[in-house]
Amino acid sequence: MNTTVLKERLENLDRLFFPGNRKTDGPSKALVLDLGDESFYDWEIPEQYLASYVSGPALGARLWAEFAGADVEEQSTYESNNPVVLTASLMSNSGMPGGESLSIAFRSPVTGTLRFNVVSNSFGMRLHSLGYAALIITGRLRRPAVIDIRKSGVVYNISEVFIGYTVSQVEELVKTGPMTTAMSIGPAGEQKVPYAAVVSEGASTGRGGLGCVFGYKNIKSLCITGFNTDFVRQGNQEDIEKALRKLGKVLEDSPYCKAMQRCGSVCLIKSSGKKGWAPVFNFSRRTDPRLFHLGGDEVARRYGQNHGGCIGCPILCRHRTRTGITIPDYASVLMLGSNIACFDMDKIIERYAVCLDLGLDPVSTGNVLGWAYEAWLRRKANLFEEGFSFKDNSKVLPLIEMIARRTGIGEPLSYGTYALGNACGDMGFAFTIRGLECGPFDYRGAYGQSLSDAMGFWFDDYFGIHSSLCRRDQADWAVLNEQIVMGLESSGVSPALIIPTVTEHERKLNRRLAIMPKSAMKLVKPYLIAETISAIKGFDITVDEILGLGDRCWRLIYEINRALGFDMLRENGELIPQHFCIDPESNHKVDSILPFRTLLDRYCFLRKQTIAVQGSGLNAD
Ligand code: SF4
Repeated sequence: MNTTVLKERLENLDRLFFPGNRKTDGPSKALVLDLGDESFYDWEIPEQYLASYVSGPALGARLWAEFAGADVEEQSTYESNNPVVLTASLMSNSGMPGGESLSIAFRSPVTGTLRFNVVSNSFGMRLHSLGYAALIITGRLRRPAVIDIRKSGVVYNISEVFIGYTVSQVEELVKTGPMTTAMSIGPAGEQKVPYAAVVSEGASTGRGGLGCVFGYKNIKSLCITGFNTDFVRQGNQEDIEKALRKLGKVLEDSPYCKAMQRCGSVCLIKSSGKKGWAPVFNFSRRTDPRLFHLGGDEVARRYGQNHGGCIGCPILCRHRTRTGITIPDYASVLMLGSNIACFDMDKIIERYAVCLDLGLDPVSTGNVLGWAYEAWLRRKANLFEEGFSFKDNSKVLPLIEMIARRTGIGEPLSYGTYALGNACGDMGFAFTIRGLECGPFDYRGAYGQSLSDAMGFWFDDYFGIHSSLCRRDQADWAVLNEQIVMGLESSGVSPALIIPTVTEHERKLNRRLAIMPKSAMKLVKPYLIAETISAIKGFDITVDEILGLGDRCWRLIYEINRALGFDMLRENGELIPQHFCIDPESNHKVDSILPFRTLLDRYCFLRKQTIAVQGSGLNAD
């Protein structure tokens, strides 16, 4: 990576984006951990960065570029030059629903591009309570360690004793609880499985191989102790209460929130079958009547409505069985279930728990197993003994463990779908994008999602999934989705609020229309969220500022990815697996292929306009 050129371009952007009069508040320093010599220090974040990029992924991307080493792509020094930047949400501790999140920026060892995962957990809130806006991890430890961050300083507990520990064993060791939380890896991260995940507070912290990066850096667990129960609000108390009451009422009346609270995110599975984006039998089919067993109504009937949510999130989509076992999210259910021909929720729940405990990303694991199943049926890979069944957990659970520990037949599977497809000389049924396993969408039924995934964002295409959109307008909606999602995340608000506060409101207005018209794009904006942030912060934040921040975040990622060798607007290679673009055959009633080139052309056109609007002198060339 040519860091000099990148830094020059980013400095120009900093000047271009600097909103001279924007107020900044909250912590202004970052805690930097230098793993190379097991030290730490405070670093003052330039005010310009805080004013221009605020928090979340935008600030994370800027700080990542600041700390990345020139030879970030060199395998031998790769991890010591690949910083991991964790940024807390600006709205942390404000009491705003959906205001607690943590963004994690790193260079994915799988795609080679900048990746940012945004998760809702208490890590960011604890970081804020220690007085930091961000945590920057540089260098690499020589031996495995548990890193303990407290008000009194940082302690590196170096020991080989953790090797082989599962996530639950590490959490027991570091005593996670109300005062302490941890982000830990299991054996998969230690073994540098490319789809290893970091697990925190009972959920994965996202895809892209963060667990593998932790493994390279020898971080077994990153713990933080701190808690702040005081609200941090600058606005007028009366205005804040009024704004929160208004937002609370909308959320309370929202059919989306009610469905999530009744059944969890698996309520989306019904529409996945109906719209034809469900991955079934390794993406060969797009729907199946047995999806009923995985859908919201059936899950609520079987397991009750024992709901809960991530810290500060009002959607409350995380459910548990009556005995307290976590019910997976819709993406994990589809990938560990229908994608490998399993429609038994009890078995999927067990698979999910094992993946998390061993530190594997459940979505990628489901994709790899889907590939293995098809390769076995096609006799492309002779991996399994006679009698092996992907429906039988007594066979599948040990297989998942073998993958995480890289033993037996798990060893070849641990390399991931892309490597497996290449090794077999047939990429026809290996579903990956830039080497990362495809998620729970058959793009023939989810056009807009293909753009989000191809660009490496991998967040939900909220408009495409939850509304009916004209096919012609999908790229325009995808760009709007990017603007709003990245704008909200960088402003410190969960994009999960898009549906109850933005889309549903618009649907109410256009109740009689089957398809959301393109003209609605002007109205589909996060007005209510901007109003609530303004009341809490005590100064005006407009919708245009949120969307502008989303575009700035996109631009930073675009520039960084270009320096890393991925030009998002010029990529001529095969971004999306061919199967979705050429094969209309499936069991869905509407035959369809993904018109990816047309979508991409429109996307590039719109994004070049973004660049042109942002300022002169820094075009896409
Ligand atoms: S929508 Fe669900 S998974 Fe997302 S933050 Fe809220 S409770 Fe957590």
